[in-house]
Amino acid sequence: MQLRGIHHVTAIAGDPQENVDFYVGLLGLRLVKRSVNQDDPGTYHLFYGDALGHPGTELTFFPWPGGAPGIPGVGQAVAVAFAIPAAGLDYWTRRLRTNGVTIDGPVARFDEEAIVFSDPYGLNLELVAGADTGDRPLWSAWDDAPVPTEYAIRGVHAVAVKETRVDPTGAFLTDTLGFRLAAEAEGRLRFQAGEGGSGALLDLLPQPGERRGRVAVGTVHHVAWRTPDVAEQERWREAIAQRGVSITPVIDRFWFRSIYFREPGGVLFEIATDGPGFTVDEDRDALGQRLILPPWLEPQRQQIEAVLPPVRLPQFVR
Ligand code: ZN
Repeated sequence: MQLRGIHHVTAIAGDPQENVDFYVGLLGLRLVKRSVNQDDPGTYHLFYGDALGHPGTELTFFPWPGGAPGIPGVGQAVAVAFAIPAAGLDYWTRRLRTNGVTIDGPVARFDEEAIVFSDPYGLNLELVAGADTGDRPLWSAWDDAPVPTEYAIRGVHAVAVKETRVDPTGAFLTDTLGFRLAAEAEGRLRFQAGEGGSGALLDLLPQPGERRGRVAVGTVHHVAWRTPDVAEQERWREAIAQRGVSITPVIDRFWFRSIYFREPGGVLFEIATDGPGFTVDEDRDALGQRLILPPWLEPQRQQIEAVLPPVRLPQFVR
């Protein structure tokens, strides 16, 4: 039994319109589902990804307009890296700078090159070009995307987590979740899920002495890992519970099914099924255009729509 890599990363944003403008208008991801936080239906849950929001391409947000900024620190996922083709480094450097984004790099990262920047609320992002980042299936292309297909983001490449020390998180990753330590350089331990490669990477950054972070605006809320189906998810649930880790029952998120638990360092993890996916309740062409509620929230649509701020998809300039 192997986790297939990152399913999605969920972070907290401020203003939802600013969030859409940045991730759709600038980074060229597609808004594939406009919904609400199922645990707090008066706030949005916005899902970005490739044309269909395939598992492995998704970054999702809970926008908390006017919310307090988070505190970066240990026990947190502190950066989200996206895969881009090697030929895209110059394009993205120009595109980000032209749009007023301050960037560092390209910096060398193992055998890859990364451009480092942050989103409007301080979430650390990276665009990474490596040997295999351009080989990922080009699902990203969607009609009207603002980024030319040849440079488009291919999906989530890696997450970085900060911990006080390598263990117990490192041991939990390898002994319970089946990760393997793949590389180590400059205070960065790279673990890979399953067969590894772009999209299946977790970089652990040991930071002894650094304070614990607090999850709020501009920080990662949780990291979800891929499992093919509910049967395997149930086996993961048992395996993790056997280690004495507190874990939720299987929760139906409608577009996938989820279980949640904390790794020993405190980062919230999820294991999510690959299906059924975002086209289960909308046509491919219609994704992201209107507010979609899971069936059990549909009776409350009027009250929910009344409290959500309007969000418009940006007009694109190539
Ligand atoms: Zn999630």
